[in-house]
Amino acid sequence: MSRDTAAEQLNKYKSSLQGEPPVLLTGNGAPISQKMASLTAGSKGPMLLQDFVYLDEMAHFDRERIPERVVHAKGAGAFGYFEVTHDISKYSRAKIFSGIGKRTPLAVRFSTVGGESGSADTVRDPRGFAVKFYTEEGIWDLVGNNTPIFFIKDPLFFPSFIHTQKRNPATHLKDMDMFWDFISLRAETTHQVMFLFSDRGIPDGYRHMNGYGSHTFKLINDKNEMVYCKFHYKTDQGIKNILAEKAGELSGSDPDYSIRDLYNAIAEGRYPTWTFYVQIMNPKEAESFKWNPFDLTKIWPHKDFPLIPVGKIVLDKNPENYFQDVEQLAFDPAHFVPGIGPSPDKMLQGRLFAYGDTHRHRLGPNHLQLPVNCPYKVISAMNYQRDGFMPIHNQGGAPNYFPNSFSGPQQCPAVKEPPFTVSGTCDRHEPENEDDFGQATTFYREILDCEAKSRLVNNLVGSLKGASTFIVERAVRNFTKVDADLGRQLTDGLRKAGKPINMTGKSANL
Ligand code: NDP
Repeated sequence: MSRDTAAEQLNKYKSSLQGEPPVLLTGNGAPISQKMASLTAGSKGPMLLQDFVYLDEMAHFDRERIPERVVHAKGAGAFGYFEVTHDISKYSRAKIFSGIGKRTPLAVRFSTVGGESGSADTVRDPRGFAVKFYTEEGIWDLVGNNTPIFFIKDPLFFPSFIHTQKRNPATHLKDMDMFWDFISLRAETTHQVMFLFSDRGIPDGYRHMNGYGSHTFKLINDKNEMVYCKFHYKTDQGIKNILAEKAGELSGSDPDYSIRDLYNAIAEGRYPTWTFYVQIMNPKEAESFKWNPFDLTKIWPHKDFPLIPVGKIVLDKNPENYFQDVEQLAFDPAHFVPGIGPSPDKMLQGRLFAYGDTHRHRLGPNHLQLPVNCPYKVISAMNYQRDGFMPIHNQGGAPNYFPNSFSGPQQCPAVKEPPFTVSGTCDRHEPENEDDFGQATTFYREILDCEAKSRLVNNLVGSLKGASTFIVERAVRNFTKVDADLGRQLTDGLRKAGKPINMTGKSANL
């Protein structure tokens, strides 16, 4: 039986070595004479405490795992470069965009969101598509997804939202009541839920899906002028999805389908690429935009804000060591470089805190010094941060306080951003009269063809039927607000599936 490229990894490693295998060493670098048995008094034991070969190995083994990411735990990574194909210097002074043909190294991590690190790849779930650009002005992390929008628009809901995608605290099972209760109580989730249950809800691996920065960001040019922007990176392999039934089969037969597909494609020289675009909105347009331009549950229509090409993302190198290169690869939406910055988008503002906080917990305060995370294109990363667990670059004898008179690192006024004004009453502002359904309606009526609509209905019915009836009725009422026909089809489908919902009652609103 022929084996795929990934399966040949160990043979490839062996043939890359020249001569004899290296000598086996303890953690402190001393040669080990015998590793075929532990050190015992007599052949039947007991073991001796002086068996450092055992203690050294077992104590390290006991500490092999670091905390799994709470979200995006299962993933694949790769390395490559970003190449500029079009000049956008009139919008941004970021050096990554300076000069057609310029290449900047990058790392990408793809992931599912809700499952644990051993979960199946072909589940219905958004996919993470995070890009780390190693620029000469520091790291820029564009921590995107395969959807241009998200379920919620206020980060205060994020922990609760994620809890509903995970396991019931009593049963430790996925729970359709938790999922659909939250979704149906928060109507702003409707747009993204429609994406999730449509064909793109299960992409065929990671190469055949788009990426989106999703949030609204800010670009600043060398005249200190600011525009808002969104980032899109569209697959050059073409969109390909997996139908629900096949995805279910693959979850059993090849739960690591997406990791394998990416690894093999790169190992065989079939390098995946994405074309990188921006949408631009100037501050005046932002004031009069029909929707809140900082609302993460909304897209910016292409006809009003056309995609402007910028460059290519190319992935041409697999990780050499998964844990070192991917498990420790830490993205943070707060990592910007001069010329790119955050907008007032509340979800983005919330993420500016959450990611760094998570990495300090998972990887420690010096995670930015790990080779895969460090800004290695910056000639001397110098600051006043010191010590903590495992510093790799603790900056020698340089002063550790600021200001100082001893040539410690100095400020760089040239990268100062234009000041911006904020106003408004300080309060917990809940969204008022916001259109939660309009874009979902456009999606349903204008983007999906008849067959895609019918698959959407089937997928929704398949999931909804597992929830309590009162929750299902509330969810169907929301979908009816997207489109009355969608509501009717769901009602019929659910009844056929043995879920006798009542949509004619006082509050049914059908
Ligand atoms: P357009 O017709 O210009 O764009 C529609 C976009 O929808 C396409 O470019 C494509 O985005 C995306 N799309 C196509 N088929 C599917 C599908 N089966 N599932 C998910 N997305 C799909 O119209 P608008 O820009 O006015 O957007 C109309 C609606 O399309 C929106 O309300 C939104 O629901 C959806 N949409 C819009 C996007 C945007 O950024 N404007 C992006 C994705 C969806 P892509 O080219 O990125 O693949």
